[in-house]
Amino acid sequence: MTNNELMQEDLKHIFHPCSQMKDYETLPLIPIKKGKGAFIEDFENNVYLDCISSWWVNIFGHSNEYINAKINEQLQDLEHVIFAGFTHKPAIDLAKRLVSLTPEPLQKIFFADNGSSAIEISLKMSFQYFKNKGESRPLFVSLENSYHGETMGALAVSDTGLYKEVYEEILIKSVHAKSPSLVPEDEAIADMRRVLEENKGKVNSVVIEPLIQCAGSMKMYDASYITKLRALCDEFGVFLIADEIAVGFGRTGTLFAIEQANVTPDFLCLSKGITGGYMPLSVVLFTNDIYDAFYCDYSEGKSFLDSHSYTGNTLACAVANAVLDIFENENVIENNQAKIEFIKEQTKRFKDLPNVQEIRQRGMVCAIELKGYAPSERIGLTIFQEALKQGVYIRPLGHVIYFMPPYIFTQEQLKKMIDTTYDIVTKI
Ligand SMILES: *Cc1c(COP(=O)(O)O)cnc(C)c1O
Repeated sequence: MTNNELMQEDLKHIFHPCSQMKDYETLPLIPIKKGKGAFIEDFENNVYLDCISSWWVNIFGHSNEYINAKINEQLQDLEHVIFAGFTHKPAIDLAKRLVSLTPEPLQKIFFADNGSSAIEISLKMSFQYFKNKGESRPLFVSLENSYHGETMGALAVSDTGLYKEVYEEILIKSVHAKSPSLVPEDEAIADMRRVLEENKGKVNSVVIEPLIQCAGSMKMYDASYITKLRALCDEFGVFLIADEIAVGFGRTGTLFAIEQANVTPDFLCLSKGITGGYMPLSVVLFTNDIYDAFYCDYSEGKSFLDSHSYTGNTLACAVANAVLDIFENENVIENNQAKIEFIKEQTKRFKDLPNVQEIRQRGMVCAIELKGYAPSERIGLTIFQEALKQGVYIRPLGHVIYFMPPYIFTQEQLKKMIDTTYDIVTKI
């Protein structure tokens, strides 16, 4: 079948995510037949360099041989089993490894199957922790320009108008403090202090995306903010929830972004890269203190009764273990350093272009913000289409182009990604 035939079949029934379906009248869907390494290929043999790791998940590229072998191996024994009352080896191994890779106070883990669910779990647990201790603390604090997912609780703590506006009147209450990615750090900290002061005794937690507000136009800030925020959370006795769903697993140059701030959050949410794009999986890590607040006789009514059908899926856990193997065996974090430097070097030239506002980079994420375009021009769409014609898949957020390549990109592929984009930006 041709791309077009498949698209017609698709559009009869499927409502795609993050899409205005009418756009597909002029902007064709691309049916993908296969993926290998850095490339995906459509049904007419066009290949595209996947520069955003297929929405930030395929950190080791497509159809990775080692992961394929490991998932096949697991498939011979067990694909899934109910996780209430039962357990399995891949989950036990994964829990142990994640606990050893994250700050020491994070000793317990709760499994779910997507990023938004991980956020819901941390919010519910945080609220219930205080309730179990006889306190009512209904408020969550997050940052302006934040994004924590699409379910109602996650949306409530997000501040990306586009996704949230419609539902505003039915969302749980949350308060936003100024973001260090938009105002100077001291101002952001002072504003957080104000918010915590004004809502003293009502706030249970502060939730942040460490270092990069990804869906919020890839806005970035320094680790020193997180260090100061941790101290502030301690001072006010509220939890710090670190949403590393996007930035975890090496994106910012360290395995986890919080390492750069040298702090321990009370909750750490992980997903996306955790299975290298193979299986839906997410986890929340937290402290023994939090765990203990739920540990009692059933009749006391303090249990945490959250569950998802695919919680702790066996194949997903096996894949996550394979991903951790690759980090270990191939020295990924160390080897990425040269790639990070290369991206920095190669993107410098954008600075001289009249339509470039700013270049931002944290590790393996680089964003180029353009200027001089009205939102109605949808310049990101034009760039996306031009790049695609040249076999490069990028997906700008409005007027912000970003690169989030898989860690397996060669220097040549990084160069192709940047050269192609540069060429387009000089011509639009
Ligand atoms: C993607 C993302 C989420 C939501 O994860 P889903 O798996 O899409 O539900 C939450 N927080 C951040 C920072 C994300 O990037």
